[in-house]
Amino acid sequence: MDKNKRTLSFQDLANKTVSPAESRYLVHHAVSGTTSPQDWRKAIDEYDDQQQSRRRELLYSLMSQYLSRDVASIERYIVDHVEHTLARTRFNFDKFDAYLATALSVRDRLIESWNDTQQYFTEAGVKRAYYLSMEFLMGRQLQNALINLGIHDQYREALKELGFDLEVLEEEEPEPGLGNGGLGRLAACYMDSLATLNYPVWGYGIRYQYGMFEQKIKDGNQVEIPDFWLAKGNPWEMQRLDVTYPVQFYGNVNVVNNKDGKLQVYWQGGQVVRAIAYDIPVPGFDTYNVLNLRLWSSSPPEEFDLEAFNRGDYYSSIGEKQLAEKLTSVLYPNDSTEAGKELRLKQQYFFVSATLQDILRRFQKLQLPIQQLVNKAAIQLNDTHPTIAIPELMRLLVDDRGLGWEEAWELTVQIFSYTNHTVLPEALEKWPVPMMERLLPRHMQIIYEINKRHLEVVAQMFPGDEQIRESVSLIEEGYPKMIRMASLAVVGSHRVNGVAALHSQLVKKQLFPYFAAMTPDKFLNITNGVTPRRWIMVANPALAAVFTRWLESDDWITDTRMLSQLEQFQENDDFIREIEEAKTKNKQRLALKISQLFGINVDTDALFDIQVKRIHEYKRQLLNILGVIYRYLWIKQLDAEQIKTVVPRVVVFAGKAAASYAQAKRIIRLINGVASVVNNDTSIDNRLKVFFLPNYNVSLAEEIIPASDISQHISTAGMEASGTSNMKFVMNGGLILGTMDGANIEILEHIGKENIFIFGLNADQVEEARKSNPPTQLDSRLEQVKATIANGTFCNPKVAEPILSCLVPQNDYYMICRDFPAYLEAQNMVDEAFKDKRGWIKKTIQSMARMYYFSSDRAVEEYAQKIWNIEPAPFIPSTISFKE
Ligand SMILES: *Cc1c(COP(=O)(O)O)cnc(C)c1O
Repeated sequence: MDKNKRTLSFQDLANKTVSPAESRYLVHHAVSGTTSPQDWRKAIDEYDDQQQSRRRELLYSLMSQYLSRDVASIERYIVDHVEHTLARTRFNFDKFDAYLATALSVRDRLIESWNDTQQYFTEAGVKRAYYLSMEFLMGRQLQNALINLGIHDQYREALKELGFDLEVLEEEEPEPGLGNGGLGRLAACYMDSLATLNYPVWGYGIRYQYGMFEQKIKDGNQVEIPDFWLAKGNPWEMQRLDVTYPVQFYGNVNVVNNKDGKLQVYWQGGQVVRAIAYDIPVPGFDTYNVLNLRLWSSSPPEEFDLEAFNRGDYYSSIGEKQLAEKLTSVLYPNDSTEAGKELRLKQQYFFVSATLQDILRRFQKLQLPIQQLVNKAAIQLNDTHPTIAIPELMRLLVDDRGLGWEEAWELTVQIFSYTNHTVLPEALEKWPVPMMERLLPRHMQIIYEINKRHLEVVAQMFPGDEQIRESVSLIEEGYPKMIRMASLAVVGSHRVNGVAALHSQLVKKQLFPYFAAMTPDKFLNITNGVTPRRWIMVANPALAAVFTRWLESDDWITDTRMLSQLEQFQENDDFIREIEEAKTKNKQRLALKISQLFGINVDTDALFDIQVKRIHEYKRQLLNILGVIYRYLWIKQLDAEQIKTVVPRVVVFAGKAAASYAQAKRIIRLINGVASVVNNDTSIDNRLKVFFLPNYNVSLAEEIIPASDISQHISTAGMEASGTSNMKFVMNGGLILGTMDGANIEILEHIGKENIFIFGLNADQVEEARKSNPPTQLDSRLEQVKATIANGTFCNPKVAEPILSCLVPQNDYYMICRDFPAYLEAQNMVDEAFKDKRGWIKKTIQSMARMYYFSSDRAVEEYAQKIWNIEPAPFIPSTISFKE
């Protein structure tokens, strides 16, 4: 019984202080047959109790029934949404309406399990982990949800009855581009694996209204088009107008002596923005568990500058409203370089502040002492972007809850952990002290205090060493002083992980040598993984069907170790034929796309040679296109007989360059210039074709990756933290041409060096080469390629000039000149290997069978055990019945 309920009396009635509902109770249920107000009160309470238990019974019986999974019911659910949600007639709805109604009917199912799962987590009181990431590159949801729920076939049937093709409707879904590339896609793969393995985890991020820009190619150049992905609504999200928090910026810090003589800090004034939650259900495969991805959107506070409003300054008060809305309007389209813009820092704090308020509110419901927080919550920082969460939690614990500094700090460090994603100096986040002081004055004080105590420990370990002190300080000296967010993340976390073995070594040795000396146990490696659901089941149904047929089970979808059994069939002609057929089918699908885009038909027997990823100098698309140019020049000087012996190649590029990254955009221009010359040269007998596919995103990746014979992962050694598309390609039966960098090294270790084409300097040799004198001569083939670029064969030489100026030994930071000869040699070996069809297939079979380690299921299990200390919590319904 609700203790806060008022006791009603006649007097209340007379004074009209009871609500209309209460007076109705009095009149209808209490008054008759009772004499005193106390008796009425009792009667009302009894009546309320009865009503409540009746309601609960009804609800339970309704909720224990799930939406039916048969085709006829599915048809009805879809039509219901057409009529009742979209307000169309059931005889007049177009393809997009059909997609929307289908998606909404799938969402209804997700909500059922989502509610069950979350209620179960709460009742079981489990410890949860929270994955904080500025980016979640989820890809399209419909096909994935249907596959994970195990009702893809039923939906296909139902839609067929309604006159629609499910595969066609799936293409109607706009892709939410809420990430730049690998880092955001990793977060999405991890959410899928966490849901599938029943881990109690939530994702937290930002609901950008404009995601990653849409890339168009005009006259060979990248053009950026804003991506208003929400234009037609988003059926996968649930707006939570009841889950909102205020987030404060600017203002002043005041310290006062409170009653018991303690200092109390107040952060007051400034701007307040409201965060509104949007929830996206994340279904696991073959489980009832559905996780939550909570994305925050900014809006004006309910009471925005009322004063200005009252002064009659209506327009300036509306202006503030618009500023608040702008906060989450656009994703920063930067990859591996930091812009240092104030709006970005505001985005970071906005999302972190709302998230911590939300986590603490959930914890508070448990009514435990705050010290127990560490037993109920673990927080993962996906790169440094959410690092401001560390001083923010300190502020909440010390200023708001009155904990002592040391106790608060111990708690904070135990709760946080940090994943580093790069060792590139230009990519390490730093914020100017004056900016932080203005925007988050209290946090700046807290960071100084953290640094003071940190440097005291440093001084004990390395007494008198100014150079070390300077290098590990959280503050970089200079004008202005800068806050080193990566160092703050290391100091404030109990675990710091890199994303591949080599990278984790470099994190310790190159990036944080003194931190590693101080706290060696803090550092660990967790090699990235990708989800076999999206990257095999969704992207490559043809191959998935072959796996299931030959393994006589589809358990490999959740236990990739089973794939190792495929190796026993590597000499089986039927198996080989089926694997080949699946590959051909995927190559045909890509060939169709190419012919639609460029009007050119390509030969699916050609070697499909693919490099798709963000365009960046360290990823060396330039090395690739220089190799293509050399190949072109070489073919051109062959005679007709010799040309017939050349392995035909289809070279595919895709990827976006940051809008402000001029050199990367020039490389795109060069690639397109080469493509138009090569593709129109009839003298080379179609032995070489080159395409740049616009607007690389998850959907395009799903089409391209299964079609590859070879893919290129050729970053300058030591510069690519892990890479994840390398894993996707090999799982789909493509081989790798790559450098000893990132996860390539571990892929080699797992699949065998005979199954991967490795070339070039390794990380140590790159370091050596950068220190030593540059070679005096260039490879003559590279000279020849440079001369062809310089004479304007492919594009305006003015555009190419800044590219050519990097292709000299003195200026060869990315080791393109030095690796060029080895690269050509490796490409020759690829040609030779591809001529042996059966030998090639065998390599791909062995590779697919040995890739099980690179499932994100393995990766998240490591996070759960080594960092978060959480257990799986599968929700198992006691009874399952279906609605009529
Ligand atoms: C996997 C993936 C990436 C990461 O690719 P890398 O080659 O590892 O850099 C980037 N973008 C999309 C759309 C992806 O699916």
